[in-house]
Amino acid sequence: MSIKYDQAIIDSMIGMENFYPIQYKKDNKFPINHNYLSRQFSDYSEILEKIKEVVLNNDFTLGRVVDEVEELVAIEAGTKYAIAVGSGTDAIFLSLKALGIGEGDEVITTTYTFYATVGAIVTAGAKPVFCDCGNDFNIDVSRIESLITRRTKAIVPVHWSGRPCEMDEIRKISSQHSLYVIEDACHALQAEYKKKRCGSFGETACFSFHPLKNLNVWGDGGIITTSESALASKLKLIRNHGLTDRDTCVEFSYNSRLDSIQAVVAKHVLDNHLKNITASRIGNAQLLDSQLSSCSGIKINTRCLYNKEVFHLYMLRVEKRDELIEYLKINGVDAKIHYPTAMHLQPAAKKYGYSKGDFPVAENLSKSCVSLPVHEFIRKVDIEKMSDLIHKFYKSL
Ligand SMILES: *Cc1c(COP(=O)(O)O)cnc(C)c1O
Repeated sequence: MSIKYDQAIIDSMIGMENFYPIQYKKDNKFPINHNYLSRQFSDYSEILEKIKEVVLNNDFTLGRVVDEVEELVAIEAGTKYAIAVGSGTDAIFLSLKALGIGEGDEVITTTYTFYATVGAIVTAGAKPVFCDCGNDFNIDVSRIESLITRRTKAIVPVHWSGRPCEMDEIRKISSQHSLYVIEDACHALQAEYKKKRCGSFGETACFSFHPLKNLNVWGDGGIITTSESALASKLKLIRNHGLTDRDTCVEFSYNSRLDSIQAVVAKHVLDNHLKNITASRIGNAQLLDSQLSSCSGIKINTRCLYNKEVFHLYMLRVEKRDELIEYLKINGVDAKIHYPTAMHLQPAAKKYGYSKGDFPVAENLSKSCVSLPVHEFIRKVDIEKMSDLIHKFYKSL
C-alpha cells in the first residue's frame, strides 16, 4: 500500500520549522507589547510550590486540583458542570463527538475565527459550513438560516475578541431547526450576554487555557462547560479512553485530560488574577474607546449596554491599516492583525469550494482590522501613547 500525500502540502512544509519560539521572541521587542509572557507569571515560585505538592502526592492525572478547577470554571460560566481537557481545540472536538456529530454532518460556523474552531469540526469528521460575520466580527445571525440543510447538526458561534454573539437569535434558530449550539468561548471567559455568562448558552461551551488567553496556564489546557448531566458524564468518559473503571471501556474514544500540573496554574490564576485580568482589560478598552472616539479614520464597535465584553482582543476597523500598523510598530507599539485571512480563503479550505467574495464582510474586516494590546500590564500612559500616535497618524494624512 503506497501512501498518498498531497504534494502541495508537502511542498509548503519544506524548510518549515517550529515557529513558536522564534515568533514569541520576535514579538517581545516592543515597549507596548501584545506578548506579556515574561510578566504574567512573575509569581511563579508560589505556583512551583503547589506543583511540588502534586509531584510529592503523585497526583498527576486527573488529580484533585483538576476537580477544583472544574468547580471554579463552572461557577464562572454559570453552568452546573465543567470538564477539563487537553486544549480549547479538544474542548470543541470532544463536544462535537459527545453530541454524536461526525461523518456526513454539517456544522455552521463563522469564517472569521481562529483555525482551531474549524480544525475541531473537521477532526470530528464533519463538514464546516462557513457564515459571514457582521462588522462587530461575530457571526451574522441573519445569514445562518439560509445555510441550514438536512445535514446540519450544530452551530458553533465564536464570541470573537470576548464580545458575546447574539445568543437569543442563535438559540431561536437552533430550536426551530433542532440544532445543537456549541459556543466557542475561548475568548470569552467572564463575558456576559444580557447579564448571563458566555459559556452557559450552548449545549456545551469551550474555553482555552493557552498562555495568551485570559485564563492561562504554562502550556496547553482547555475546559468544556455544560448544564446537562448526561452530556457532562459522556464528556468525562470520552476524555478518558471511554473508561468507567480501570478494566471497563464502554466506548473506545480518546485521551484528552487537563494535566494536574497545568490545573495548578489554572487554579492559581482563577484564585488570584482572573478578576483583575478581566477588569484591567475592560478598563483599558473603555479608556481607548473614549480617547479614540473622536479620531477620524477609525471605527469602534458600538458597545451593547446589556452585554459585558472582556476584550481578549481590542479590535478596531481602520483606514490605511497596514500603514498604521507600520507607524505604530516604528513607535514601539505592537499592533497586530487577528487575522489577515478568513477561514474560507485559507489553503486548507480549498476543498470546500469557497472563493474570494463569498463573505465580503469578513474579507473586508481582515483587510481593515487592527488589534491593540489591552492586557493587565498595559498602563494608562501606554493607552495615552497609543491613542496619541493614532490621532497623529490620521491627522498627518
Ligand atoms: C485559542 C482558540 C481556540 C483553541 O484553543 P487551544 O487551547 O489553543 O487549542 C479555539 N477557538 C478560538 C476562537 C481560539 O482563540
